[in-house]
Amino acid sequence: MPTNMMEWGFVVVFFLLPGTIGAWVAYTKGRNPLLWFVLNGLFAPTVMITLFQRPLRPMQGHYRQCPKCSEFSKWREQACRFCGTALS
Ligand SMILES: [Zn+2]
Repeated sequence: MPTNMMEWGFVVVFFLLPGTIGAWVAYTKGRNPLLWFVLNGLFAPTVMITLFQRPLRPMQGHYRQCPKCSEFSKWREQACRFCGTALS
């Protein structure tokens, strides 16, 4: 276990921070936050995988799924960025 402030800072920056970011991004994509917290916390570069992977399902406030081509667009986008279909 960390014994001083420097070591706690190290733990936060290199494990808790990427783990927390990864868990949050995974959550917005309908994925398992705990799994991605552990993975991103243990190996920070995997945060990039979390950021660029497709959402698993539509998430209110985060992602919509296009009814026509079933690709995902950001919640705030009015039209599908792949085929242009209007999203409601
Ligand atoms: Zn579409």
